[in-house]
Amino acid sequence: GPAALALLGPAPGAPSCPHGPALLFVKTSQGKEEGRRFYACSACRDRKDCNFFQWEDEKVSETRLAAREEYNRNHQPSFTHRQNVDRYKNFVLLPLSKRRFCQECQQLLLPAEWEKHSDHQFLCDITTAQLKSPSQLLYPLENKKTNAQYLFADRSCQFLLNLLRDLGFRRVLSVGTPRLHEMIQSKASQEEEFSVRSLLLDIDFRYSQFYTEDEFCHYNMFNHHFFGGETARETCRKFLYEENGERVIMVTDPPFGGLVEALASSFKKLMAMWRETEKEGHNKEMPMFWIFPYFFESRILDFFPSFSMMDYQVDYDNHALYKHGKTGRRQSPVRIFTNLTPSTIVLPEEEGYRFCTVCQRYVSSGNQHCEICNSCTSKDGRRWKHCVLCKKCVKPSWFHCNNCNCCTLQKHSCEKTDVGCFVCGKAGHKRSACPSLS
Ligand code: SAH
Ligand code: ZN
Ligand code: ZN
Ligand code: ZN
Ligand code: ZN
Repeated sequence: GPAALALLGPAPGAPSCPHGPALLFVKTSQGKEEGRRFYACSACRDRKDCNFFQWEDEKVSETRLAAREEYNRNHQPSFTHRQNVDRYKNFVLLPLSKRRFCQECQQLLLPAEWEKHSDHQFLCDITTAQLKSPSQLLYPLENKKTNAQYLFADRSCQFLLNLLRDLGFRRVLSVGTPRLHEMIQSKASQEEEFSVRSLLLDIDFRYSQFYTEDEFCHYNMFNHHFFGGETARETCRKFLYEENGERVIMVTDPPFGGLVEALASSFKKLMAMWRETEKEGHNKEMPMFWIFPYFFESRILDFFPSFSMMDYQVDYDNHALYKHGKTGRRQSPVRIFTNLTPSTIVLPEEEGYRFCTVCQRYVSSGNQHCEICNSCTSKDGRRWKHCVLCKKCVKPSWFHCNNCNCCTLQKHSCEKTDVGCFVCGKAGHKRSACPSLS
């Protein structure tokens, strides 16, 4: 049967790798646990990035524990965040001609360090504007499965910022959204009447060179680990405390290589942190935008039933996977999931979105309201068609297969598997054949 890895969650007392507490996994077959449970790195899906492995029931000797601690210490960044902040202060005092950035080490260089990097490629005359847009200066870590750094296109970033401002938010917890953070930071420093603030939580420590401890926390969103310990946790807690009625929203755009349950578990902890900042206790959820592909809708709703998916297509600068669709514009599968009232999320009419009065939300231009389903049913922006046998709307390219007794791609094998697909959660196919991905 199909084998898969199941996450058993962040386990109390889990051993740590350089990326914080490891997660507990088990191999499954036909939905049943099979074999020994084991711990593996929470952050790295590529063994080359972190090869931490330990059986759950394995006895680890004192010597190995000590060696591991030493290894973890040695695999922390060479400068601390504090040191990077001091280095930045010195860097901005330098004349333009002495401001260098090493492209190989992805590091701002002070003149005394030039020698050490003499055979590395570097950029010179780093301007203040460049320092204010680190996401342009640093190369995106896209090739690493681990980081999957896909940066917002300016249009989408601007849209998100305007949207949350119009909704009345004054503080943004930016979890894995360095470009949004950067846009907020640079507007705040340039426009006097701009009063939004942002705190960036990200695993990409390179950003600590450009932001203070109040602006950036080195954070792992797969295990809710603050690398800066209690101090960093406290910074986050303080930021979430809604002083003077400054409302907070969390915006996150995680890598989508799986582990939705790990993300959900961390986000619930961030929500709890927000809830606990209030003396009386908030009885609502912290407002949130979770930016993720539409084919994860059912997985996200499993963990956050109060969320709904918006039709807005989030676009990226460097996303190679999803290029131009039939319309000439690239069709991104990435959407906004939110616990805010859908009717308040106003999508740009000039991009073809319109308001459906029955559904009480903005939908994309191709998304037709189906009278039978009584909803605007398209997920991907194309016009979907209603299947009377399935009693629901399906993709235009699907047809009803009497063998499988459901709508699917024309080309498919009629074999059934009883385990749900890893991507969409539906039965009948494996992850590799998931129709959502085609
Ligand atoms: N579209 C966003 C970037 C999203 S890419 C923007 O333009 O701002 C995913 C982001 O998540 C990257 O910044 C990456 O560094 C970060 N990330 C990847 N793995 C992470 C982890 N385990 N914990 C925290 N952040 C992570
Ligand atoms: Zn690791
Ligand atoms: Zn509708
Ligand atoms: Zn329908
Ligand atoms: Zn059908």
